[in-house]
Amino acid sequence: MPVGTKTKKDIRSLCKEDLRTFFTEQGQRAFRGNQVYEWLWKKACYSFDDMTNISKETRELLADNFVINNIEVDKMQRSEDGTIKNAVRLHDGLIVESVLIPTDTRTTACVSSQVGCSLDCNFCATARLKRMRNLNADEIYDQVVAIDRQSRLYHNKALSNIVFMGMGEPLLNYKNVLAAIEKITTEEGLNMSPKRITLSTVGIPKMIKKLTDDGVRFNLAVSLHSAIDAVRSKMMPINEKSDLNELLEALQYWYAKTKKKITFEYVVWKNINDTRKDADALVAYCKRVPSKVNLIEYNAIDDGYFQQADVAAVAMYKTILEKNSIGITVRHSRGKDIDAACGQLANKS
Ligand code: SF4
Repeated sequence: MPVGTKTKKDIRSLCKEDLRTFFTEQGQRAFRGNQVYEWLWKKACYSFDDMTNISKETRELLADNFVINNIEVDKMQRSEDGTIKNAVRLHDGLIVESVLIPTDTRTTACVSSQVGCSLDCNFCATARLKRMRNLNADEIYDQVVAIDRQSRLYHNKALSNIVFMGMGEPLLNYKNVLAAIEKITTEEGLNMSPKRITLSTVGIPKMIKKLTDDGVRFNLAVSLHSAIDAVRSKMMPINEKSDLNELLEALQYWYAKTKKKITFEYVVWKNINDTRKDADALVAYCKRVPSKVNLIEYNAIDDGYFQQADVAAVAMYKTILEKNSIGITVRHSRGKDIDAACGQLANKS
């Protein structure tokens, strides 16, 4: 960096009060801070020049002091089923992926929370990418804004739901994920209802308890995939650190305080968890905490080990869960032709 060049701060790391203070220190009215804040968040404006109700001098003052480190959609792929996958370039050149999933009744954004992942679930394509860093709150927010714009453009409707199910484990980027959700749900941001947001986690008991204590109002999903410790540990090393009992205790704590049912995400794999014993264990687990199950179709990631179970095995799960009055939805994958389906996000595009 040349001598005398100052590093400019990302303006979106400032809260509204900081912006108001900046302007009063510059001899301007604090109200300018409110205006700029509205441009940055509610209007998701990425250029000082576009802030049209602010004078040219003030826009220059902002550009002299700050940058806006917005994301850019580097590559967009559209599936034949309407699903859109974005390769998103961050300000430092790293790439993450996010997905828009349209159905007749809703459009859902699946967003990433980390670049890569450190958790090594061995059925997951993202696990093959080293964790590079956490995303900032604004980088998560920007993914939602980009998908909302695509939803309006290609599907003629606003984005209706968000799932934190893209790259990374959201509870290992706790502070930034919650800050992003705060901005997404506030009137000064995107004003979306927290009821339409679901955070999906491998299940880190300590952090689930923290979510509960922090009084969050969004939904919780847990990638369970087996209710038998020996089976789950083989697929998800996190289970060796905190087993199913510890997870259950945290989920019971969550339900006792939030009264929100937990969604268990569950893939049935051939020769791994496709027996009656596996299904019975899932039923027993679900009975211990109010919950429902999403049975998700698996998308092979070319290693041959994990394969989608036979139709009969999925049907067996469905029958047993229904018999026991446990809510069950079978989810067929979307965007398979562009590697946008669950567990397939791996920066291949
Ligand atoms: S499933 Fe989620 S937590 Fe596990 S490796 Fe993949 S991205 Fe990470």
